[in-house]
Amino acid sequence: MLFSYDEREKLLLATYAFPSRQTRGRKYPEADHPYRGPFQRDRDRIVHSAAFRRLSGKMQVFTGDMGDYHRTRLTHTMEVTSIARTIGRALRLNEDLIEALALMHDIGHPPYGHAGEDALNEALQPDGGFSHNAFALTLVEELEIRYRQFPGLNLSQELLDGQRCRAHKNDRRQTPLLEVQVVDMADSIAYDAHDIDDAVKLGLVTIEPLLQLELVREAANRVQERFGTLTDHEMRAALVHQLIELMVTSVLTHCQAELDQAAWGSYQEALAAPVTILPEPELREQKRALEQFLYGNVYRHPRLLSVRQKAQQQLREMVAFWTAQPERLPPQFRQRVAQTGPARAAVEYVAGMTDRFCAQQYEANLIDGAPGTDPIQSLTLGG
Ligand code: MG
Repeated sequence: MLFSYDEREKLLLATYAFPSRQTRGRKYPEADHPYRGPFQRDRDRIVHSAAFRRLSGKMQVFTGDMGDYHRTRLTHTMEVTSIARTIGRALRLNEDLIEALALMHDIGHPPYGHAGEDALNEALQPDGGFSHNAFALTLVEELEIRYRQFPGLNLSQELLDGQRCRAHKNDRRQTPLLEVQVVDMADSIAYDAHDIDDAVKLGLVTIEPLLQLELVREAANRVQERFGTLTDHEMRAALVHQLIELMVTSVLTHCQAELDQAAWGSYQEALAAPVTILPEPELREQKRALEQFLYGNVYRHPRLLSVRQKAQQQLREMVAFWTAQPERLPPQFRQRVAQTGPARAAVEYVAGMTDRFCAQQYEANLIDGAPGTDPIQSLTLGG
């Protein structure tokens, strides 16, 4: 007999975890799957979506012009998922829900990273703006066309609620599920660690100034204790591993003590407490200092600023081009115009593009600019 997800969860999950059997279901009701739980199905739908596959063609912070060592949105997503599952498993939370949330968390990112997002947000300023977190919901609820019976992926409500919490970070009316909080935490652990790796590898910063930061110094000390003197290359890799280890351990130490002590009998009790997934206070401060350093020395590095400006100019021109001529949008987005207006339909079309496709479209439409001979390859999210 097949071992059901529910039996498995009864054995493995803590009482404060969200049990899959308590899901609020899907917008378009569907029968249960014989052996996959609801969040396993959500995970599979996300992995099979067009938007997920396109993450491999979207930059995280650094562009493809800078080589191909650094993270893309896809590899960042895999790192977040791996860290989130580690934390979730150790705290005995719902790992299937965590995995699905983590794989979805950046699915709404437009081309050219946060620079791209800022340009699209500006373009829609009179009309509610654009955010990658909100666009993830538009993708999974409306734009993905993969099933005959419904638009979007028809994900479980907990997935949509989790993403809504991300989209309204500064205006949260309710405490997010612990599983949602774990993904947020894992996201920030992943980028703190891997942006250091990428920035050092690209020569934007050296290890010396990083060692002024307490968190990095502590990680470096531990690496040296364990391995002795290392080459720069070895040190860079070992630092990333050690930084992740330090931060994850601190989150587990901080949370497990609280969770054990309170002994909540249900996820509702933990939410009402409310409990927050965070590292220990001291590490929280060190982490903040590291993020300030990255912000000042890496994300605003002159080499990135020029790429940023060029990308934003391209996106502005592309949005203006299709807003003025929505009849030149691919059919799926032409149909969106009645619902969203031409500007948002144009932004949604551009937001779905990979960096490379975006550059090609820019060249085809705005450089060679031959309106009438339509070079637009149809990019639909069903494709
Ligand atoms: Mg992320």
